[in-house]
Amino acid sequence: MTARVEYDQLFIGGRWTDPAGSGVIDVVSPVTEKVVGRVPHAGTEDVERAVAAARAAFDHGPWPRLPLAERIAVVTRIKDLLAARHQELAELVSLQNGSPMLFSVRGQALSAVGVFGAALAAAADFAPEEERTGTGGPVLVRREPVGVVAAVTPWNVPQLTIAAKLAPALLTGCCVVLKPAPETPLDANWLAGLCAEAGLPEGVLSVLPGGRETGAHLVAHPGIDKVAFTGSGAAGKAIMAAAAANLTRVSLELGGKSAAVLLDDADLATAIPAIVAGTCAANSGQACVALTRVLVHSSRYEAVAGALGAAFAGLRVGDPADPATVVGPLISRAQQRRNLDYVASAREAGATVLTGGGVPAGLDTGWYMAPTLLGEVTNDMPVAREEIFGPVVCLIRYETEDEAVEIANDSDYGLSGAVFSADPERAARLARRVRTGTISVNGFRLDLAAPFGGFKHSGIGREFGPEGLAGYVEYQTVNLPRPTAS
Ligand code: NAD
Repeated sequence: MTARVEYDQLFIGGRWTDPAGSGVIDVVSPVTEKVVGRVPHAGTEDVERAVAAARAAFDHGPWPRLPLAERIAVVTRIKDLLAARHQELAELVSLQNGSPMLFSVRGQALSAVGVFGAALAAAADFAPEEERTGTGGPVLVRREPVGVVAAVTPWNVPQLTIAAKLAPALLTGCCVVLKPAPETPLDANWLAGLCAEAGLPEGVLSVLPGGRETGAHLVAHPGIDKVAFTGSGAAGKAIMAAAAANLTRVSLELGGKSAAVLLDDADLATAIPAIVAGTCAANSGQACVALTRVLVHSSRYEAVAGALGAAFAGLRVGDPADPATVVGPLISRAQQRRNLDYVASAREAGATVLTGGGVPAGLDTGWYMAPTLLGEVTNDMPVAREEIFGPVVCLIRYETEDEAVEIANDSDYGLSGAVFSADPERAARLARRVRTGTISVNGFRLDLAAPFGGFKHSGIGREFGPEGLAGYVEYQTVNLPRPTAS
């Protein structure tokens, strides 16, 4: 396992540079509650330097003007280095956020490699210019890079969310100022070093570890052309409001409260493992796409409660470094408290705790929460409406398919979901009626080549694959002269 990691410089404009101030961020392990890393805290002066470097690189540097094939070559080297060092990356992410290694290798590190791979595949079909016949004559439709991008990312899947912005931004010719979450600055700095090694030109990338104030200064900066954000709805709203002042473009990937609908003929041998994978086993429940509302037909309620409760109770909770651990600690003491408070509020509202509900025995050091299944939840309870971010799952009854759709859609969010039935076509029909950005049939899957994003309060815009590239493009129409008759 990775030992303590320290940086004493910031990566600004492609060079390791002394920070303007003397503040630091201490990274605290969710397992030991001890400091495991330290980086300089980027302040407003560092933001100014990073935006100036990115502006210069975008306005005057080679990167946006390179032939696409040359940018593809650099991004391919980044992807290859990530793939070669994915184990190291998985350990570094886990060190900071407590992600179980069982999840971290695939869900943190290899998923980032996958996002780069899918973006590269999309870039191979990306046409920077295309001639069309318009209504008044021939037109040249050009795809210009949007400009300098502020990427602001969360701690839960830090590399996946960075890759979802960095890969398309670099491929289209943008320059990027990345502000990672203060809980996970180490892997962002690590990635900066890797990008330099891959030959990314100076100025194209800066990394500014910092908190909300650093982020707020960055996203309100007039030198930023687009903010690409992943995080909470509250921060998303603040960012959109700040961006409005400069008409800065925004894409927002926010939270979720997604439904797994089990139809009356669902095969539990398929559904139960998929729901476990989409809840407690997904980064200890700290996943925006988590299937936190399980909607069950009344006729199957007892069977599902029993089978899912038993599956949750059997999950191994503990040290994320242990390869057998499925559920690790939560990110912070506050997050653990939040989970416990939601369970208490659910109890008061009339829900029952079918399994879990507290801190597992013997795990007093570190911020653990037992996989928790709540029964007899109704969709109006706060536990069913608000994103908790942890291994707490609601079981909700329904009587008819229409009612299942109504409950699934009765949410401020619309990010993910799943439908289970012995008849996949029946499940797919129901899936089409759920207002959500992604939904799986008889499984739980995040496809890195297909558009990913939210309806409603789950966000604006799409990441991954060709639609991900489109988010970093401004279209320019050049009206060409009409051919003269000869
Ligand atoms: P957060 O919103 O607290 O922080 C996210 C990032 O935004 C951090 O870097 C933070 O420092 C920064 N930030 C906060 N306020 C800001 C402001 N006013 N201006 C600029 N920057 C600001 O979220 P978090 O706790 O780090 O992450 C958890 C949240 O992220 C959950 O709601 C989860 O659902 C969401 N998430 C969504 C997706 C998705 O793709 N939809 C993926 C992962 C996580």
